[in-house]
Amino acid sequence: METATAIAALQASYTFLKDVAGFTLNERDRQKFAALQIDLTDKIIQAQANIIEVQNAITSKGVLLRALQERISDMERDDRECGRYQLAKLGLVGDFFAYKLRPASELPERADEPEHFLCQPCFDAGKKSVLRVSKYTAFCLLCKASVQTDFRPALPVNRSRGIDRDRW
Ligand SMILES: [Zn+2]
Repeated sequence: METATAIAALQASYTFLKDVAGFTLNERDRQKFAALQIDLTDKIIQAQANIIEVQNAITSKGVLLRALQERISDMERDDRECGRYQLAKLGLVGDFFAYKLRPASELPERADEPEHFLCQPCFDAGKKSVLRVSKYTAFCLLCKASVQTDFRPALPVNRSRGIDRDRW
């Protein structure tokens, strides 16, 4: 009987130790699992942050790309517009230069525009200002430059009123 009691006690002890060991293993595994879960959660959060950062970079690159495409289009348009004109001396007095519209045969588009001159300083600054050219002067409406382009004849003298300025 003592032997059976001793065996039963040993079996109970074995079961207890096995349960304790199982609990310890389970607890260790649970803690490892929890640690892994926390680590995995941190990695997922970091990956989401990285994805958002990449998406923001892609968005800003897209905005930059569109702005650059528009800038290139503007530069190509400006280049085509510049190609329509050539620098030419205007008038007979001094050295006044302006951009003259090229002959219609040299224009790939809008060849039906009438002959005209553009103010050189304004055009070089990116502004298109057609000069108002009269018989003796040229005038820019933008920069207000006014130059004499041709020699004026001697003023006719009106004997009753002096110089007749109405004929100018
Ligand atoms: Zn001007």
